[in-house]
Amino acid sequence: MNQLVTTLLVIGGGPGGYVAAIRAGQLGIPTILVEAGQLGGTCLNIGCIPSKALIHAAEEFEKAGHYAADSPLGPSPLGISAAAPSIDVTRTVGWKDGIVKRLTGGVGALLKKNDVQVVNGFARILDGKTVEVKRTDGEVQRIRCEHLLLAAGSEAVELPFMPFGGNVVSSTEALSPQTIPKQLVVVGAGYIGLELGTAYRKLGAEVTVVEAADRILPAYDAELTKPVAASLKRLGIDLRLSSSVLGLNAGVRVQQANGEEIVLSTDRVLVAVGRRPRAGGWGLESLQLDMNGRAVKIDDQCRTSMRNVWAIGDLAGEPMLAHRAMAQGEMVAEIISGKRRHFTPAAMPAVCFTDPEVVVVGMVPGEAEAAGIDAIKAHFPFAANGRAMTIESTDGFVRVVARRDNHLILGWQAVGRGVSELSTAFSHSIELGATLEDVGGTIHAHPTLGEAVQEAALRALGHALHI
Ligand SMILES: Cc1cc2nc3c(=O)[nH]c(=O)nc-3n(C[C@H](O)[C@H](O)[C@H](O)COP(=O)(O)OP(=O)(O)OC[C@H]3O[C@@H](n4cnc5c(N)ncnc54)[C@H](O)[C@@H]3O)c2cc1C
Repeated sequence: MNQLVTTLLVIGGGPGGYVAAIRAGQLGIPTILVEAGQLGGTCLNIGCIPSKALIHAAEEFEKAGHYAADSPLGPSPLGISAAAPSIDVTRTVGWKDGIVKRLTGGVGALLKKNDVQVVNGFARILDGKTVEVKRTDGEVQRIRCEHLLLAAGSEAVELPFMPFGGNVVSSTEALSPQTIPKQLVVVGAGYIGLELGTAYRKLGAEVTVVEAADRILPAYDAELTKPVAASLKRLGIDLRLSSSVLGLNAGVRVQQANGEEIVLSTDRVLVAVGRRPRAGGWGLESLQLDMNGRAVKIDDQCRTSMRNVWAIGDLAGEPMLAHRAMAQGEMVAEIISGKRRHFTPAAMPAVCFTDPEVVVVGMVPGEAEAAGIDAIKAHFPFAANGRAMTIESTDGFVRVVARRDNHLILGWQAVGRGVSELSTAFSHSIELGATLEDVGGTIHAHPTLGEAVQEAALRALGHALHI
């Protein structure tokens, strides 16, 4: 049998694995990366990038509809009128696929540039230093390594009584539709369900979202999600909270909060009830690593309970975010090269690309309170921001949480159009240990949404200028 020997073997070419491999290559570590599917993993192929492409296309289509003579919103206040738009979904999906191809091709080129050997195939762990790969060309290859980095990612959770197949789809299929269904039921009002449900609504589907909790985006506080709930209503999305899906029988059977059972007629069902680490089917269990449920347990250097076996990204549990996987991957490569690193970010940004977008970085007010910190919170509404008015997006606000004693900023949250781009400023200020005075005293360009960041800090200090 063909055998390769390397210093670092990475299983999984998602954002965690490919970044680790690129950095290892830059540092001169002999590295092999094994990928069973496409380079770029969930994020580039069936996650972050395709979902944002579909959301953008849906927004553009909806916007064009607002300018049509028969728009339910009446004539555009901007004075623009146009014919009713139409959409060729096959072309939309083709455009999205083009972006994915460009990005995944780029990953391949970067790995090559950094001398990483990519083996296309499915890896099975034999022991902590040996992996057997069933290559896509049919060959079986054994690879021996000094360091084994597990970056196998996650998979969509299936409802046992409503398995994927036919018209029951996961986000993967929902991101490559051949047609837009007349009626779509989305199970789960987390960020994936709401992002995709909103996009389908804007593309013309009648959308019902069923959620077991009593509010949308249960991981975020109600003040933040209120503008999103209002927008879902405005868009005509039928939201069924405190409701449980029971199964599929001439429609989706749902038990409502009052115990009543109803049947929602539908052409397609998108199940978006969460993702779980891909912990089975590739020999991981043979290593008998310490686990946190289905996630591989790691320390603050991404070491597992076995020496020189590392785990990063979704496989290592929440928060399952691409930027966390990348940061962990980069760090592990540096530790293997001999650098001293720990994974202790001051904050991990999280964004929901809903309409409007939601950003959370650092502590929310409830977390500060739970930690026993005497904190100030203040928010600045986009309704008082000139730039927000010029882009017709005055819904939402920026909120800051800071220590009362020394004004150290603990957290930022925002909801509003385009606020995902504010996450950078939020992360910088927290990671650099900024105080309210630092942000309040920084000149912010006018007119920008970012002025609301400065004004929130000033408001927390008791002297906002524009409210
Ligand atoms: C619809 C959707 C939208 C999302 N949007 C965002 C977003 O906006 N922002 C964000 O931060 N995150 C988002 N995510 C989450 C993000 O995609 C993941 O957090 C990220 O991809 C995790 O990276 P990873 O490297 O850990 O794993 P993955 O990206 O899952 O990559 C793992 C790779 O390992 C390969 N693999 C697995 N087992 C084997 C094996 N035995 N042999 C060989 N190869 C194997 C898989 O084929 C896969 O390519 C989204 C996810 C979804 C589903």
